[in-house]
Amino acid sequence: MSDYKIATKCVHAGYTPGNKEPITIPIVQSTTFKYQSGDAMGKMFDLEDSGYFYTRLANPTNDAVAAKIADLEGGVAAVLTSSGQAANLFAVLNLCAAGDHVVASTAIYGGTFNLFNVTLRRMGIDFTFLSPDCTDEALEAAFQDNTKCVFGETLSNPSLNVLDIEKFAAAAHRHGVPLIVDNTFPTPVNCRPFEFGADIVTHSTTKYMDGHATQVGGVVVDSGNFDWTQNDKFPGLTTPDDSYHGITYTDRFGKAAFITKCVAQLMRDLGSIPSPHNAFLLNLGLETLPLRMRQHCESAQKVAEYLQKSDAVSWVSYPGLPGDSEYEKAQKYMPHGTSGVISFGVKGGRAAATKFMDALRLCNIVTHVADCRTCVLHPASTTHRQLTSEQLEEAGVKEDLIRLSIGLEDADDIIADLQQALETATK
Ligand code: PLP
Repeated sequence: MSDYKIATKCVHAGYTPGNKEPITIPIVQSTTFKYQSGDAMGKMFDLEDSGYFYTRLANPTNDAVAAKIADLEGGVAAVLTSSGQAANLFAVLNLCAAGDHVVASTAIYGGTFNLFNVTLRRMGIDFTFLSPDCTDEALEAAFQDNTKCVFGETLSNPSLNVLDIEKFAAAAHRHGVPLIVDNTFPTPVNCRPFEFGADIVTHSTTKYMDGHATQVGGVVVDSGNFDWTQNDKFPGLTTPDDSYHGITYTDRFGKAAFITKCVAQLMRDLGSIPSPHNAFLLNLGLETLPLRMRQHCESAQKVAEYLQKSDAVSWVSYPGLPGDSEYEKAQKYMPHGTSGVISFGVKGGRAAATKFMDALRLCNIVTHVADCRTCVLHPASTTHRQLTSEQLEEAGVKEDLIRLSIGLEDADDIIADLQQALETATK
């Protein structure tokens, strides 16, 4: 649907019903698919025929939703995964094996940092983490001969750093490797990283894409722009795969090589598919994504401006605020809005922040963001409560930090709730 605007694609891309067919994407909740003869099925295993045979490898509901997201991002192909964690794992594992190296931004979701720094390190993949605001020299120096990709978040959770996608893409390409970006927070409605040179996009679809806290999911999307054959760094894509009929993915599948390998090897062996029912729920969220993103951003801007003026607040971080350290980059990469997530400090430190949380009536205390309900978290008293003040400092989590994800309630009601809780906290 390349000629249509994003709101139209959000409703229609990925599925075109025929005459007398359902208007919504049907939920094909079946593990397997029946064939009339062994030979007919055998042709599929020989890759002589296409179709479905087992949902771990492909399912019509999942495929339709993946095709919609590929279209929204401007990519050539996508695969849904059972979580955002699985999406980032698959994106990296599709390129890296033991002995390889990745350059990654430090401004990434804690779960992704742990996946990279602990689990993938244990599997022999090495990482160099560096600030997204590093100098060109520091970025250049981070590459090694065995570097296979660069990873960052377009708008980081929770620090709200905006990645300079063009700078990171140019550095990656100078070294013959792709840039992978996690685009969960802005969504393709606010930022399409392929337009700035990124090669692979991932998402936790659990967040805005779903938006109603109904399913945990992820997706990996390929731009189709990276030439895997330009060097010998990616033998998994450019030489025969003994585990899959000896095919060479780049020869056989061209621009779809990366996603085909991701499905044929990683999904086959690691099996992190979403249930077709979850893909259906995700699609309902996608249909209203542009409307919701607009409202999340408009309300978050209003709330951020209110917080900035409040005497009970020590600092506010929101890339939509002129003067914010990320404002200029946000204007370039996300000119129509960033996301609904704001972080701020309550005057009075940890004790006042705890009192503030207890006094909230409308905002929900949850370890979640990017939902139609306003979500709030005080990391120092919840997710990071085992850490001392010094350890919190080291982790870059201030004691007074509140992470606030503005929902779709009326902004005036959200502000009234924040105001009464701030008054109680700082009395
Ligand atoms: N990427 C980002 C930016 C996230 O915020 C999260 C979760 O919060 C993830 C990945 C992991 O996603 P999931 O919780 O769906 O596994």
